[in-house]
Amino acid sequence: MTILVLGGGFAGVEAAIKLRKYGYEVTLISDRDYMFIYPISIWIPVNGLHFDDAKLNLFELGKKHGFKVIIEKITKIDNENQQIITDKSTHKYDYLFIGLGMSKVYIKGMEHTHSICGKPNEALTIKDKLENLVVKGSGNINIGFGGNPKDPTSTTVRGGPAFELLFNVSHYLHKKGLRDKFNLTFFAPMLEPGKRMGEKAYKNMGAFFKRFHVNTHFGKKIKEFKDNAIVFADDSQLESDLTLYIAGGDGMDLIKNTSLPQNETGFVKINELCRVENEDNIYVIGDAAAIRNHPWAAKQGHIAEVMADVSTYNFHNTIIHSGKRKSYWEKLHIICVMDSGDGAAFVIRTSKKEIMIPLPIVGHWLKKGWGWYFKQSKMKRMFRIPGM
Ligand SMILES: Cc1cc2nc3c(=O)[nH]c(=O)nc-3n(C[C@H](O)[C@H](O)[C@H](O)COP(=O)(O)OP(=O)(O)OC[C@H]3O[C@@H](n4cnc5c(N)ncnc54)[C@H](O)[C@@H]3O)c2cc1C
Repeated sequence: MTILVLGGGFAGVEAAIKLRKYGYEVTLISDRDYMFIYPISIWIPVNGLHFDDAKLNLFELGKKHGFKVIIEKITKIDNENQQIITDKSTHKYDYLFIGLGMSKVYIKGMEHTHSICGKPNEALTIKDKLENLVVKGSGNINIGFGGNPKDPTSTTVRGGPAFELLFNVSHYLHKKGLRDKFNLTFFAPMLEPGKRMGEKAYKNMGAFFKRFHVNTHFGKKIKEFKDNAIVFADDSQLESDLTLYIAGGDGMDLIKNTSLPQNETGFVKINELCRVENEDNIYVIGDAAAIRNHPWAAKQGHIAEVMADVSTYNFHNTIIHSGKRKSYWEKLHIICVMDSGDGAAFVIRTSKKEIMIPLPIVGHWLKKGWGWYFKQSKMKRMFRIPGM
């Protein structure tokens, strides 16, 4: 039986690990030879983390857990003929786990912006641009996020990292003694950005903006980015020396070009078992999947891992003809430690509760500790606490 896992991110790596635990031979295909730990990459631009420390080598992971790793760029998912075509070869499969992440909605002039949610190297570009501005001594920095107009669910909006980057940049400038020399503005086209984290968390964001002396610019559609400004639908402009923008998520062309069932944004439709509708041998997990729309659902790394766990469990029980099944629907929730450089806010949103606890100082170290623990436990150097 040939099992292929596509993608070496949160979803793919966890699926490969779990499949090995069930005793299957697994091959993971990724276009980069490392897993990038996005949640801790927010510290790269502000000199708080070395780029290499946000990476986990896939070959080392494969060696530890016993799965095979192939580094090739996938160019076609040929589900009709059960094969994956890459820039170097063709791989046949019997079972497929897709964890390829997502693409971004394009807005005119987006090349004038930089995103902490794009290719990993972008974090280094942001670091360089920020350092240049620090040398210059003053400027206008605008940080924001957008949605996908085709997405009725808002599960493709990635706001948390934009808030984290904003507060970290403010803290960084403060440490340099330059905070009062910079205008820092947070912008978003929606009227109430961040509301998905819950009413309580949303209300508390106001206090954060005040504390970090951040201007806000909400509720205006973005028309275009220029090299020195952001232009809005009513032709008003925000001057900008550095624009850091996280675009709304979109399905990848790689997936849009398949016959797999998709929602209007190009994410693959799955059932609660994480299996593709009408394709018994394909599971889609993580950001690539169209997840169920609850107000307490968002595409996050730990949800990608939950989906990896659920999909591999259901796959295994199907193979051994057991009736046991798990549903990812019941496990959806939002959890994040939103870092501000000098502390953090712990946010939880489930079907039953909304919690936001400010954690000055200790919250920052909690998140740092999580990053360290995540790498150690993935490399089997430490016991893995379920759900972390
Ligand atoms: C800055 C930032 C901070 C975040 N903070 C948090 C947080 O605090 N908590 C949290 O839970 N989540 C957080 N997230 C969200 C989390 O990182 C994502 O939800 C998670 O990475 C999704 O995992 P994935 O495996 O589905 O996709 P990805 O991690 O994007 O992995 C996709 C994989 O597919 C590979 N791939 C893509 N295209 C191809 C191709 N053509 N051929 C071969 N391989 C390909 C990529 O190389 C990669 O290995 C954050 C995200 C960002 C960007």
